[in-house]
Amino acid sequence: KSDLIEEKFNELLTDKGLNNEIKVVRTGCFGLCEAGPIVIIYPEGAFYSHIKVEDVKEIVEEHLYKGRIVKRLLYKHSVEDDVIKSINEIGFYKKQVRVALSHCGVINPEDITEYIAYNGYEALGKVLTEMTPDEVINTIKASGLRGRGGGGFPTGLKWEFTAKANGNKKYVLCNADEGDPGAFMDRSILEGDPHAVIEAMAIAGYAIGADEGYIYIRAEYPIAVKRLEIAIKQAKEYGLLGRNIFHTDFSFDLEIRLGAGAFVCGEETALIASIEGERGMPRNKPPFPANKGLWQKPTLINNVETYANIPKIILNGADWFNEIGSEKSPGTKVFALGGKINNTGLVEIPMGTTLREVIYDIGGGIPNEKKFKAVQTGGPSGGCITSDHLDVPIEYETLIALGSMMGSGGMIVMDEDTCMVDIARFFLDFTVDESCGKCTPCREGTKRMLEILEKITRGEGEPEDLEKLESLAETIKAASLCGLGQTAPNPVLSTLRYFRDEYEAHVYEKR
Ligand code: SF4
Repeated sequence: KSDLIEEKFNELLTDKGLNNEIKVVRTGCFGLCEAGPIVIIYPEGAFYSHIKVEDVKEIVEEHLYKGRIVKRLLYKHSVEDDVIKSINEIGFYKKQVRVALSHCGVINPEDITEYIAYNGYEALGKVLTEMTPDEVINTIKASGLRGRGGGGFPTGLKWEFTAKANGNKKYVLCNADEGDPGAFMDRSILEGDPHAVIEAMAIAGYAIGADEGYIYIRAEYPIAVKRLEIAIKQAKEYGLLGRNIFHTDFSFDLEIRLGAGAFVCGEETALIASIEGERGMPRNKPPFPANKGLWQKPTLINNVETYANIPKIILNGADWFNEIGSEKSPGTKVFALGGKINNTGLVEIPMGTTLREVIYDIGGGIPNEKKFKAVQTGGPSGGCITSDHLDVPIEYETLIALGSMMGSGGMIVMDEDTCMVDIARFFLDFTVDESCGKCTPCREGTKRMLEILEKITRGEGEPEDLEKLESLAETIKAASLCGLGQTAPNPVLSTLRYFRDEYEAHVYEKR
């Protein structure tokens, strides 16, 4: 749709002789999926939503040619008393702080000069000409940045471990194998701002002593792959990748590796195996990738969103980053907000924001005046959080204490009509499908759990099935080899914890 809209704008602007004055810029995601396709006209900042190809003529003739805003096409929350609000005043954006997403919806991701115009590659220039590798690592450590892929491990420490590891060759990897159902944070960053990730990986290469990196991305993200390819090519043409970057001794090259869509390849050792051309199966840890990773060499792996924060931290300093978010979890987190919520989309919030603010102030509440029931965070590894915990600040530790987790950022909202046993079954079905089969607790245990859940949802469950589910869940968590199995029972355990009455209703009130 956006292709056709862009084409139409260009065609009509040419017809009107406006094509030299007005530029149509194709950007990445604006975040507010619910209102798409979106067209913003600057300098007024008129925010047109749900645009169809047929609307383009009116926008060109009325707004761009005659200077009259087309009120009927404005996003309904973007105007008050006939005055157009700036984007930051619109409810959906008001409480957001954009760091990782700051260029998404602003620049043309296929044009390196637009990234450069927004201070792009300045951070790389700064580290190469003004900082030692140790200073870079200390800055990342002081910023308190933690891995945004799910684990929340301190990023600076990871960089330090890899920098100190012995090895004549080291690698920098980017994990873009986003696979949680409903999650699209990494895809949007790569589609909207690929150079930020490339720049950050080069900075990481300098910090740990690596001259080569790989971006592992699933092939189901063709737009992100295409934009990354363009961005890497342009960075090479501008001397920002390759040999003697910024005329220094530092060289760094980057390649893309496509994943075939196996969820388990998001696990770092499985990802490494996949890049090596092996079947994507996790390996025992230790040794950790920092010591023995890709081709047995010290390897740094971070996810897309983690990297997207790096250039900003280098340019603005660790203290700046520390001021955003909370004490234990500085900075922001991007969430893909979906399910039973009015404003579905991509949101970036300071850590410590409450779920209530996300669901009601940013998300606009639950459609059809239904009641909020729960929110699932962390995808198939996470759990459900109930209305009793709406005022809990979103941080790594608080979510774990509630039996869920931050995960990579999927946030699925459920209303009063949602059956929580069904939700648990959905996520377990996903993990059964995605289990690589290497270890028995995960391969067999999750299947048995799924069978029990299916029996319960068919109305054939027995009271003792609930204990069986809990006992299987504990064994799988304790005995599985990798994170996929260790966290697979979480959706069942958290729904059993908070919605046991629904399981009991299925079991005791059989059809
Ligand atoms: Fe494979 Fe599951 Fe074992 Fe992980 S826990 S290695 S996904 S079988």
